[in-house]
Amino acid sequence: MPTLSPAGIFREHEVHRCEILVIGSGPGGSVTAWTLASQGKDVLLLEEGPHLPLSSCVPFSIDEMRQKYRSGGMNPALGKPTIPFVEACCAGGGSEINSGMYHRTPEEVLDVWRTQFQVQYLEMEDLLPHFEACESALCVQLDPGKPPGAATKMRTGADKMGWKSREIPKWFKYQKGAIRQRKVSRPTPVNDRNSNSACYGARMPIHDSGACRATPTEK
Ligand SMILES: Cc1cc2nc3c(=O)[nH]c(=O)nc-3n(C[C@H](O)[C@H](O)[C@H](O)COP(=O)(O)OP(=O)(O)OC[C@H]3O[C@@H](n4cnc5c(N)ncnc54)[C@H](O)[C@@H]3O)c2cc1C
Repeated sequence: MPTLSPAGIFREHEVHRCEILVIGSGPGGSVTAWTLASQGKDVLLLEEGPHLPLSSCVPFSIDEMRQKYRSGGMNPALGKPTIPFVEACCAGGGSEINSGMYHRTPEEVLDVWRTQFQVQYLEMEDLLPHFEACESALCVQLDPGKPPGAATKMRTGADKMGWKSREIPKWFKYQKGAIRQRKVSRPTPVNDRNSNSACYGARMPIHDSGACRATPTEK
């Protein structure tokens, strides 16, 4: 495993040298840094926010906003219509705070990118190995538990309207029978669809996944 070097908090006037500097440790930066480091490059991944474990707060809580969101999630939204905007400011970036919803890029979108923007190699068959690698590294899967109430309502509504609906896969890790630990954070409990026994899902943050295991280490 390559070491993304160096680690810890930089102090003012400290000088660090590297071949490639990647700024921001979200999915974009982490995967870039990991890929380059895997190729033997001397990479420095710079992150402005704190490096916190998933267990540092309850997922989707006020604490999480305080700890991991830029400006505690209090970004001003101006204009008409007003669009609330939030982003992460922590190691792992948005992968630490998002809902882990996952889609393969739809055929029709690839088609536009290929024809309108002349991007090559965007056939589904070109991308399939990449989709599969991401899905495996991030444990993308359907929720093995009972769907939450809101999802059930949406499905009932869609069925009544004659609309197509389907569950969105997530990059979540589910643990059957794990101890309920909402207060201390990680898993979001759901009920097992088949047996009614507890089944817990936790986000797969990018720096914990096989796609990019970037842990701060002293040089
Ligand atoms: C609340 C929320 C829910 C979401 N839900 C989903 C979802 O379900 N499914 C999905 O696919 N996507 C979702 N997203 C979007 C997804 O998280 C982002 O598209 C993704 O994180 C973008 O990755 P990125 O690396 O481009 O940027 P980011 O993840 O934003 O990472 C940028 C990183 O760079 C750091 N940084 C910025 N400037 C500097 C600087 N000058 N110096 C050092 N560090 C810096 C930031 O602190 C941050 O950590 C969601 C996003 C949010 C906010």
